[in-house]
Amino acid sequence: MTISRIPRFYKLSVEERHLELRGRLGLDDEDVRTLAGGALSIDAANNMIENVISTHALPLGLGLNFRVNDRDYIVPMCVEEPSVVAAASNAAKSVRDGGGFTAEADPPIMIAQVQLVNVPDTEAATEAILSRRASLLEACDEAIPSLVRRGGGARDIEVRTLVPSTARVPSTEHVPGTEQGRGMLAVHLLVDCQDAMGANMVNTVAEAVAGRLAALAGGEPGLRILSNLADRRRVRVRCLVPLHALETKEFSGERVRDGVIAASRFAELDPYRAATHNKGVMNGVDAVTLATGNDWRGVEAGAHAYAARDGRYRPLSIWRLGPGGVLQGELEMPMVIGTVGGTTRAHPGARLALKLLGNPGASELGMVIASVGLASNLSALRALACEGIQRGHMSLHARSVAMTAGATGALVEQVARELSELGDVRLERAVAILARIEAESRRPAAAHGIVAPPA
Ligand code: NDP
Repeated sequence: MTISRIPRFYKLSVEERHLELRGRLGLDDEDVRTLAGGALSIDAANNMIENVISTHALPLGLGLNFRVNDRDYIVPMCVEEPSVVAAASNAAKSVRDGGGFTAEADPPIMIAQVQLVNVPDTEAATEAILSRRASLLEACDEAIPSLVRRGGGARDIEVRTLVPSTARVPSTEHVPGTEQGRGMLAVHLLVDCQDAMGANMVNTVAEAVAGRLAALAGGEPGLRILSNLADRRRVRVRCLVPLHALETKEFSGERVRDGVIAASRFAELDPYRAATHNKGVMNGVDAVTLATGNDWRGVEAGAHAYAARDGRYRPLSIWRLGPGGVLQGELEMPMVIGTVGGTTRAHPGARLALKLLGNPGASELGMVIASVGLASNLSALRALACEGIQRGHMSLHARSVAMTAGATGALVEQVARELSELGDVRLERAVAILARIEAESRRPAAAHGIVAPPA
C-alpha cells in the first residue's frame, strides 16, 4: 500500500526523491528516465498539436499526506505557482489527522447537446422526442458500440425549451433559427462514458442522432456538442479537521477554525470574494488535472458554470463548525476528466502521473482531484484567517523574484532570504541584492576577512 506521508521529502535532492519513489512505488528505469529527462519528446509533441516548434515545461511536484476514502495517494501536481504544492500537502496533513477526505462521485454521465432550431411547435416536438426515448437511446448506443460493451452508453434524453414557438421575438432581435413563430430546443443526451472524459464520444452520439431529432421536431439541427457544465458528473468531498491540527504558534485552533468559517461566509455572500476562493480550489484541481494529461479548460469551464448555476456566482466549497467543534469542509463540483483517451495515455508524463496515483479509474481520480482542491482551499483560508497570506506566500514568491533577477544555484536561496527578511519582495530590490552579492564575491577574499582553506 502506498504511504503518502514521506517526512522530510522536501529536504531531499531531486535525484534522491526519484530513488525514494522507486522504492516506494516500484518505478522502473524508464519511469525514472521520464522524470529526469522531461516527459515529452518533440516528436510526440508534433503529433499532438499543430505548428509545433518546441515543448514548454512546467514543474511537476508531489502533493503528500493525502488520504481519500481510507486510501493513501501520492499526488502529482503540475503548476508554476510557488507554495501551491507545499500548502496542499500541509493542509492534507491536517485533514489526515481528522481521518482524511471522504469523497463520492456520480456515475460518469456526460451531456451531449443537440440544438434544434426553427421548431414550429416546441411543445409537440418535445412530446414527439420523449415518446421515442427508447428507440433514440438505442440509436445513440449504436454509435458507440465499444463503450456499450464496456458497460457505458446512453442513459437518458431530456428536452429543454430555449425559445418557445409561441414567443414573440422583437424584430430588432432577429437571430437566424428563431424566426417569428418558430422555437429553439436543446436536446440533452446523457451518456455514461466510463473512464473516458468523453467529449469525442458524446459528440459522436450527438452527430449520430441529430438528423432524427430534427425530423421528429420538424425543425433543423443546429450545434451538436458536449456541455462542459457536466452537472450529472459531480464529485463531493468532505473533511473534518481537528482543532489541534489547526493551531499555530500564535493562534489557537478555535481562532483558526472560526477564521476559516468567517472567510467561507464572506465567499458565500460576495461573488468578488467567491471568485478568489474558487481560484484557491482550482490551484489544486488544475495542478492534478494538468499532471494527468486532462483537459483543464473543460474542468475550469464546468467548475465556474456550476458555481454560477443559480444565477449568482458562489464558492464551490464551504466551511462550517463540525461535530464536536472541529472544522468541517465540503466541496462539490463537476469533474470532467478521464484516465483513458485524450492525451492521458499519449503523453508519457501523464501516463506516469497516473501510475504514481495507482492507475485509478476516472471516478476515483475525480475524487482525488477534488480532495486536492479542498486542501488547497483550506490552506489559503487558514493563512488568510491567521497572519494573512502574504507572509508564507511571499517567502516562496521571493525565490521566483530572485530567479527573475538572474540569481542561479545557491544565490537563489540567498537573495530570497534577504528579500524575505527585508519584507520587500520587489524585482528591483532583488536585482540590487544580487549585484551587491556578486560585487562582494569579486572582491579579494581577504577583504571579507575570509581565509581560504589549505590546498
Ligand atoms: P477519446 O476520443 O480518446 O475517447 C476515449 C477512448 O478511450 C476511446 O477510444 C475508448 O475506446 C477508449 N477507452 C479505453 N478504455 C476505456 C474505458 N474503460 N472507458 C471509456 N473509454 C475507454 O477521448 P474522449 O471522448 O474522452 O474525449 C477527450 C478529448 O476530447 C480531450 O482530448 C479533450 O481535450 C477533447 N475535447 C474537449 C472538448 C470540450 O471540453 N469542450 C470538445 C471536444 C474535444 P473505444 O473507442 O474502443 O470505446
